[in-house]
Amino acid sequence: MKGTVLYGPGDIRFEDRETPKITEPTDAVLRLAATCVCGSDLWPYRGLQPIERPTPMGHEYCGFVEEVGSAVKSVQPGQFVVGSFAASDNTCVHCRYGYQSSCIHREFMLRAQAPFLRVPLADGTLVSTPGGVSSDKLVPSLLAASDVLGTGWFAADAANVKPGSTVVVVGDGAVGLLGVLSAKQMGAERIIAMSRHDARQKLAREFGATDIVTERGDEGIARIKDLTKGIGADSVLECVGTQESMKQAIQSARPGGFVSYVGVPHGVELRAEQLFYTHVHLHGGPAPVRRYLPKLIDLVCNDKINPGKVFDLTLPLENVAEGYRAMDERRAIKTLLKP
Ligand SMILES: [Zn+2]
Ligand SMILES: [Zn+2]
Repeated sequence: MKGTVLYGPGDIRFEDRETPKITEPTDAVLRLAATCVCGSDLWPYRGLQPIERPTPMGHEYCGFVEEVGSAVKSVQPGQFVVGSFAASDNTCVHCRYGYQSSCIHREFMLRAQAPFLRVPLADGTLVSTPGGVSSDKLVPSLLAASDVLGTGWFAADAANVKPGSTVVVVGDGAVGLLGVLSAKQMGAERIIAMSRHDARQKLAREFGATDIVTERGDEGIARIKDLTKGIGADSVLECVGTQESMKQAIQSARPGGFVSYVGVPHGVELRAEQLFYTHVHLHGGPAPVRRYLPKLIDLVCNDKINPGKVFDLTLPLENVAEGYRAMDERRAIKTLLKP
């Protein structure tokens, strides 16, 4: 088969790779229905996160079980399944507390921008759709559950979004937009999306944003204070991972408010003293998507949400390099790749 490999900044190649096979009795091999490019793939693509050697790419996936190892019990060949970007046993103490992305047997997925994928810890990692089937129409939304929806949902949950909450979402990438959708599902009354990009503002509104703030930095913080009668927001979802976005998030929360952060931080430093006087709760990290997968698959399959709308570009997998370019140049929010 052919798969996606990053050789260096801007250098994505679709080249011959070994077809994955079962190596452990707990493995499954999937034939992917779809995969995609993640915002976090752009950090190494842009050279902002150096790589030491050619690196296979991709960690978001859904598709059909092709083969399972002898110890796998919960999924069978032919079933349609979704898994998280972090493989987990779903049985250890951290998993039982709901932090599957910190599982003691965790393995971060790589190599998903390919037609076939080996998934370790298949019983703990993979969740089947009802009846093990999926219509083509649902594939983009099920794929979104694999990371960006699960991460947006964790962002809203970790920021303590409740019915009636006032919520600010910093970041208008796929995760931020699905943070808006998640906050809406959790009953937020007011959802302020920070975005200066027309198409993304439109989608944010469709997903439930009640207000759009285009200003950034100190001006952005001042706008949020204006909109909340000088109080600040109950919940702020930081979905970028830069110093500026983190500062904006913390200063947009009310004293005692909650800030979640789900964008991988790059060069972010927090000063304890500044933090001390804000009274904010901070909770973030790699999203434990597995915790939410059964619920998210249920919402998608019952047509309650349509997170697949974040994919505004669909390409054949072999054109993966163009998929990266389009996202890098912000011509696309998120690229879906079809093997
Ligand atoms: Zn991702
Ligand atoms: Zn575990």
